[in-house]
Amino acid sequence: MCQSCGMPLSNDPNGGGTNSVGSKSEKYCSYCYQNGEFTFKGTVTEFQEFCRLKMKEVGHSGFKAWLFTRGMKRLERWK
Ligand SMILES: [Zn+2]
Repeated sequence: MCQSCGMPLSNDPNGGGTNSVGSKSEKYCSYCYQNGEFTFKGTVTEFQEFCRLKMKEVGHSGFKAWLFTRGMKRLERWK
């Protein structure tokens, strides 16, 4: 799964983010990581908030959004 947001990489339509040299990242999804850089720069708390809003925007319930984001602090990027 993505070590930034926790999404399974198999759910990523692009199959993972891209490193600066153009290769695929095995650690991060295409939403979080593009061309060797994180798309969201901020604290994990801000990122959780950002993801919750995004999920609600596309129609997920507040509960599901909470469930998805609550484990983020344990992922490799935020350690
Ligand atoms: Zn991600």
